[in-house]
Amino acid sequence: MTTSAPRPADSLRAAGSVTNRLVEANQRYAAGFEDPGMDARPVLKVAVVACMDARLDLHSALGLELGDCHTIRNAGGVVTDDVIRSLTISQRALGTESVILIHHTGCGLESLTEEFRIELENEVGQRPQWAVEAFRDVEQDVRQSMQRVRTSPFLLHTNDVRGFVFDVHDGLLREIDPAL
Ligand SMILES: [Zn+2]
Repeated sequence: MTTSAPRPADSLRAAGSVTNRLVEANQRYAAGFEDPGMDARPVLKVAVVACMDARLDLHSALGLELGDCHTIRNAGGVVTDDVIRSLTISQRALGTESVILIHHTGCGLESLTEEFRIELENEVGQRPQWAVEAFRDVEQDVRQSMQRVRTSPFLLHTNDVRGFVFDVHDGLLREIDPAL
């Protein structure tokens, strides 16, 4: 056994760690925080499903405030089984009624293919159970996402489901017609 391996406490204090920076920011945030006294139900009764892309600031882009909405994000803003799980809880336990789906221009998933899974299998010896959900046509992918939400048997509210593409260069949302 060597004595040079970093102990957990040392790595927690590692200089320049991005996590340390975030924790410090949280301490400043908490210092000025006042309990808004809200319950867990979103004020606007809306759930937003969006890509995890770092350029998409959902609250600013949609004029949302604390407590307004549920935010469900993953790579691509894809409507996976787990997103349906979250939407089901959002609607049935926490009262949301509308769903907004947001994909965006320049998404990382446009440069991947399902071959990504094969490459993973070659590297680590097992193929993931999940689909990559790569796409070439962002509009078509938004349509598919809307369809998955609208046809889910678990959701109470599927009438107000709208899909958009966010342009990362001009900040505008473009609505996608589900019927095309
Ligand atoms: Zn993306």
